[in-house]
Amino acid sequence: MDMPTIRLLYASVARPELRYDDLTAILRSADTHNSAAGITGILCYGGGRFLQALEGERRAVNVAYRRIIVDPRHSGCELIACDEITRRDFPDWTMKLIGWDDVPTAERRALLLQHTGSAVFDPFRFSGAQATQFLAALGRMERAEAA
Ligand code: FAD
Repeated sequence: MDMPTIRLLYASVARPELRYDDLTAILRSADTHNSAAGITGILCYGGGRFLQALEGERRAVNVAYRRIIVDPRHSGCELIACDEITRRDFPDWTMKLIGWDDVPTAERRALLLQHTGSAVFDPFRFSGAQATQFLAALGRMERAEAA
């Protein structure tokens, strides 16, 4: 049997002194490892919180997640959703970073409100379905803006 493909979502608290350089270092290492492991996803950062989706073969996603949760650049990783999927939401991104603090556009705010019922980006309060739908919609919006 083929290894199932899954999508795993977790929330975490960024280390308080996290800087922009740390985010670029995280992305560099994510790009390297994820492209080798066939993992795609999105990483949303705002208000000192992370919300990340990792998509890929179940074993590869577990290996990445085990590495990520012990990273001292964040803490308190909380699993929000883990589903078997037949289609990826972020097939074109080894890891797309969305800075929620940088560009609080009206469109992004509306999207957050629509999918989570909250105007504040606090992923620990999202249900699995809310977080999944919010990130998928955010991905679609980013792709449309870039086109
Ligand atoms: P390096 O990147 O060289 O790191 C070696 C070790 O040092 C690791 O244990 C790392 O945690 C630690 N480290 C590195 N820089 C710092 C620093 N500035 N301060 C403190 N400790 C540091 N990795 C992925 O492969 N895919 C992902 O999608 C992914 N997403 C991430 C999302 C978040 C929110 C965070 C915080 C990390 C993420 N990472 C991701 C990074 C992951 O946690 C590991 O650091 C990385 O996979 C290890 O890469 P490496 O073996 O090349 O070691």
